[in-house]
Amino acid sequence: MISFEPISLLQRNWLQEIGVDRSLLMRLPLQDSVASAGVQQPLAVQPVHSGSTSPAPSKETAMQAREKALALIRPRRAQQAAAEPMPSAPVLRKSTLDLRVLAADLSGLQEQITVCDGCELHEGRALTVFGRGAEQQPDWLVVGEAPGSSDDRSGHAFDGQAGELLQSMLNSVLPEASFYFTHLVKCRPLGNRPPKQEELDACRRFLDKQIDILQPKRILAVGQLAARVFAQHEQALETMRGQVLRYEGPDQRTYPLVLSYHPAALLLRPQFKVHAWRDLLMMRELQQKIH
Ligand code: SF4
Repeated sequence: MISFEPISLLQRNWLQEIGVDRSLLMRLPLQDSVASAGVQQPLAVQPVHSGSTSPAPSKETAMQAREKALALIRPRRAQQAAAEPMPSAPVLRKSTLDLRVLAADLSGLQEQITVCDGCELHEGRALTVFGRGAEQQPDWLVVGEAPGSSDDRSGHAFDGQAGELLQSMLNSVLPEASFYFTHLVKCRPLGNRPPKQEELDACRRFLDKQIDILQPKRILAVGQLAARVFAQHEQALETMRGQVLRYEGPDQRTYPLVLSYHPAALLLRPQFKVHAWRDLLMMRELQQKIH
């Protein structure tokens, strides 16, 4: 049980002004001179200078009252602080995952990516977007630039309208083929800007490891940036597409490579669909040649 010294009316007003709980104020005894005068003591905030019928307290008196009031509640606050347990630091799951050595299987690699903060893209992502599809030697590894807003919300690569368009185009020409879909980077750049070079570099080891684990039979890179990364050439997509290229993977294997338009670009510019259709026919021809 904590006992308090009697306080003056002025002290009580100070305590109320600085936010002391009303129920506590009601429990604080008033000095005899105040209580015996029968003064009604409203708990509404009172101005320090309270009117013409009673002399206004000097500034020094008010300050003294404030200091005394604070002195009254300080021990109580100290007791409260001592009684409250210190919040424990959040346990970061990241500390249990070592990203220096990448997992040798897709599920382990995906788990590592969910806690990756290897570039600034981690700050704006809702979900990491690892990849989806056939996980054992897919006929085609389809690689885009970066997750879009639908991907970011669902965590699935090539989600949304653009993904549906790509899927229906692939299904119409290559109904028997298996696909795995992923991106150069696994976190969405805010505002759908292209990933910066340092972000591509930071995320590259995850893509390389995916290719190493998946061992796809062929690669389709969609969009300007993915085309440049896989073709290792700075030319425009329009110049590079329309032919089967070769991509030398991180595992020293060589993959047949086709470049084409990103489905989001086809939604914006339907006139490119005729070229994309030719790319698909080339993919079918390639698949028939190399099983
Ligand atoms: Fe890590 Fe890649 Fe995401 Fe950057 S984009 S935070 S490197 S997973």
